[in-house]
Amino acid sequence: MNDFGQRLSQLKAQIPEHVRIVAVSKTKPVCMLRIAYAAGQRIFGENKVQEILNKSPEMPSDMEWHMIGHLQTNKVKLLIPHVSMIHSIDSVKLLNTVQKEAAKIQQVVSCLIQIHIATEETKFGFALDEAIELFEKLVPQDYPNIRFSGLMGMASFVQDEHEVLSEFKSLKNLFDKIKMTSMSGHSDFKEISMGMSGDYPLAVKEGSTLIRVGTLLFGGR
Ligand SMILES: *Cc1c(COP(=O)(O)O)cnc(C)c1O
Repeated sequence: MNDFGQRLSQLKAQIPEHVRIVAVSKTKPVCMLRIAYAAGQRIFGENKVQEILNKSPEMPSDMEWHMIGHLQTNKVKLLIPHVSMIHSIDSVKLLNTVQKEAAKIQQVVSCLIQIHIATEETKFGFALDEAIELFEKLVPQDYPNIRFSGLMGMASFVQDEHEVLSEFKSLKNLFDKIKMTSMSGHSDFKEISMGMSGDYPLAVKEGSTLIRVGTLLFGGR
């Protein structure tokens, strides 16, 4: 087994089976992604549209690209044909653009609404109350080309575990609230994307279903 394979199995051994791993391959060359693919990894996360466009023709088609970074509306059209899930829906305008472009090529795209749970102002996403309002107003039938799959959040980059834990808890609570109200009866609404190399054990403890791990699998950037 190669190094990637070893790191992947070590990671898998630490998380429940239902938690899926998004291997964050941003800045890493295709040769490293191929090694990851050979080790059985099928979900790859990138934060730039251009990187997905460059790498996607070089990789087998039975894998999934997940867009995890801030997405500009003018790049949506280019991205849609290549992407299975967008974790970073951070505005209604972006949601509307994804619907419009996905409809044009008759594709259904899984989308997560990004929630701002960190104390840092630099991070994108809806505030907790904005997200509740969004889902209260949302008419999923108006978005036939979007699969509302759940929520995504990034915790603050701090050492304080209590802080990180409470941010993950707030995302889980919000998910539960929306799942019980606006999205009740929507079986697709089931994902909580939270946890990275530095904080995935806490995220998993708080109910993450998708962890986005780069450094731990591919090494530093
Ligand atoms: C880069 C990135 C990750 C992965 O970070 P690591 O610390 O390398 O695991 C996860 N999520 C997002 C949104 C990222 O941009």
